[in-house]
Formats: sequence, structure tokens, C-alpha cells
Amino acid sequence: MLRSDSEKLVRKVMAKFVDEEVIPVATELDNKGEFPYHLFRKLADMGVLGIRYPKKVGGSGGNTTLYCICVEELARGLMSLAAITAMQCLMATDGLYRYGTKEMHEKYLRPAFRGEKIGAFQLTEPEAGSDLSNVRTLATKVEDGWVINGMKTWSTSGPIGSFHTVLTQTDPDKGLKGLMFFFIPADTPGFSHSKKFDTLGTRTSSLSEIYFNNCHVPDEYMLGELGRGLDVLLTILAEIRIMTACLAIGLLRAAMDDSIRYCKERVQFGKQIGKYQLVQAKIANMAVNLEAGKLMCYKVTHLIDNNVPCLNEASMAKYFTVESACSACDEATRIYGAYAYSMEYAVQRYYRDNRFLLYGGGTHEVLQTTIARQYLR
Ligand SMILES: Cc1cc2nc3c(=O)[nH]c(=O)nc-3n(C[C@H](O)[C@H](O)[C@H](O)COP(=O)(O)OP(=O)(O)OC[C@H]3O[C@@H](n4cnc5c(N)ncnc54)[C@H](O)[C@@H]3O)c2cc1C
Repeated sequence: MLRSDSEKLVRKVMAKFVDEEVIPVATELDNKGEFPYHLFRKLADMGVLGIRYPKKVGGSGGNTTLYCICVEELARGLMSLAAITAMQCLMATDGLYRYGTKEMHEKYLRPAFRGEKIGAFQLTEPEAGSDLSNVRTLATKVEDGWVINGMKTWSTSGPIGSFHTVLTQTDPDKGLKGLMFFFIPADTPGFSHSKKFDTLGTRTSSLSEIYFNNCHVPDEYMLGELGRGLDVLLTILAEIRIMTACLAIGLLRAAMDDSIRYCKERVQFGKQIGKYQLVQAKIANMAVNLEAGKLMCYKVTHLIDNNVPCLNEASMAKYFTVESACSACDEATRIYGAYAYSMEYAVQRYYRDNRFLLYGGGTHEVLQTTIARQYLR
């Protein structure tokens, strides 16, 4: 596939950053499980946090393809850093950019691009995972704005976020048509969160429950037109799915790179293990899936950059690349033998981190259903 000069340059700069500054500290950061503020600030200085926004609002003037290249390279180094960055660039800030006032841009959007404020995006509730029609966080109209009551769960950057884009229900009788997003700063009275979850993977991410107890926000904090809340999500749904697919491509590459290195190092029965055909088959499968996955992903990012609707293609790319990454991480743990079981080697982290990709952007059962529906109408 032909690449523009800016795509090649962003790839080169990000690859260097990941090789020199992320991979050497990735295991240590994951073990500590702390948010990597210093790397996040460096990404802000490099212009990554505003990469898909125009320069007039403080962004870097890039596009979805450049954004996805950054996400892919970061995921090759450390999945949780990539996931936090991906969230900051897209779900946490897109509604604020599209529907926020100039004052909100000055106070929250520009500082988010500078890495000074962290954003979060909250759909999921204890009773509403895939089924968003069951969202119960209630937004009630009052004279001078809206009052929000309810709770969210599995909020990435929830405990450390300065502002939150939150899906609420404005009229339970209307179901999906009553859904609306609200912008809620973390210093709004009545806002609170649980302690950070202890999780299997992506351990430098901070996840928590979020509580809204009579949180009062002004009218301009409603993101979008009343009754069109789902459109706010649909505007970026293809981008959310392709971003997750690019996280998967980065992880697949990490698992493959480490597997190739180990195949050349490890000698058994007098031969490098990479000389055995059954081991070669694993590398071949990784390579074929990587090539196919990249073609799918960057076809979709180019469609998005040219304003061509592509939700089905994005769903297929997410499904294929995440399944491929899960398979590659599994195969890598077999190639490493017992050493995959040691916390010293990164393959155990890849194996734990790949689970996260199965849920965000739509579970695979839901994606399979929606893909099949396109053909069975
Ligand atoms: C690390 C991590 C970070 C996250 N970050 C965020 C975040 O920042 N913000 C946020 O809002 N959420 C976040 N989530 C939550 C994530 O979006 C949800 O996990 C996801 O929406 C699925 O919901 P659920 O886990 O409740 O699963 P459920 O929807 O309860 O699904 C359970 C099982 O049932 C299957 N299933 C459900 N419905 C159907 C159907 N119609 N047909 C076939 N099978 C079905 C699913 O595929 C799955 O296998 C995060 C999750 C994780 C693990």
C-alpha cells in the first residue's frame, strides 16, 4: 500500500520513541501498575494527544490514519499506555471538540492536548454493557441546566480524569432515543469514584466505578442535540473499532518480534527451535495475519479520512485483528515454553493484555452478529 510522507514520518518518529523510551521500561511500569505520567507528557509534547484535531483548536492537524499509526506503535511497546493515549485522543475529547463551547475548548480541550488534563469516556454501567438501551444514569432537566444521578463502571482513567464524557438517559420511556452525552468535570459537586480496580492486564491504566450524586451541569454541557445522543456515538464508532484493531496490530507485532528473536536464540536437540516446521508454522500464521490485518486496518482509516461510511469494514477489521492478536499471544507463550510463565519476559504481559481488546469497541459475539446481519438482510 502506498504511504504518504507524513505517514512514513509519524511511523518513524513513533517507532523510535517506542524502541528507546517505552520498551525498556514497559515491564517495570506494568509491574508497578502506575499511570505513566512522564511518557504521557512526552506524547503531548510530540503532538500525539491532539493528532486527529485541527490546529485551530490546538491539535496537530493530522487525521485518523496518523492517529492509528501512533496507537499501533505504542501498543507494540505497552498496551496500557497505548489504550490511555487512544482514549485521550478520541473518545474522551471528540464530543468536547464537536459540541463544546469556545470556553470549554480553552479550559479543557487545549489542556488535554498538552497532557495537563486527562479525559474519560463512560458508557458502561453494571446492568448496561453491550446493551446500552439499559443505561440508567439519569439526566433531569432543571431550570438552569441538568442534574445527573447514577453510576458508571469500567471507566478507563476514571479515578484520574479531570473531565468525563458520560452517556445518560434523559427519558426512560424513550429507550435508545432518550440517551444523551454530558460533559462532567471531575470537580463538579456530587462527582466521586471508587478505588482503582485490580485487573488482569493493562495494569498501568486506572479503571474504576464513577458516581454521580445530584451533579448539576449547565445546558452547554449537553453534547449534541436533545434526542440525538446516539448519533454522537455513531459519529466515532467506526473510529473506535479501527483504533482497537490498530491496538491489536501493535500487540501482534510485539508477540511476533519476541517470538522470532526467541526462535533464533533457543537451541533444543542441537538446533535453533525456529528450524522446526511446527514452530515455523506459528511464525507463518502470525506473519499472514499481520499482513492481512494491516491491509484491513489502513483501508478503513483511509475510508474514514475520506468521509466514506465504513462501520461494517471497521467491525470486520476489529474482529479479525483482535482474534489474530489473541492467537499470536497464545502461540508466543508456547514458543517460549516455561519461560513464558516467568514474569521476567514480556510475553506473559502480551498474553494478559490481549483480553482487554476483546471487550472495548464491541464484544466479538456482538460484532459477529452485526457483521452477519449485513449479509442476511
Ligand atoms: C480494560 C477495560 C477497559 C474498559 N474501559 C471502558 C471505558 O473506558 N468506558 C466504558 O464505557 N467501558 C469500558 N469498558 C467496558 C467495556 O466497554 C465492556 O466490557 C463492553 O461494553 C462489554 O460489556 P460487558 O463486559 O458488560 O459484557 P456483556 O455485554 O455483559 O456481555 C457478556 C457476554 O455476553 C455476550 N453478549 C452480550 N450481548 C449479546 C448479544 N446480543 N449476542 C450475543 N452475545 C452477546 C458478550 O459477547 C459477552 O460474551 C472497559 C472494559 C475493560 C475490560
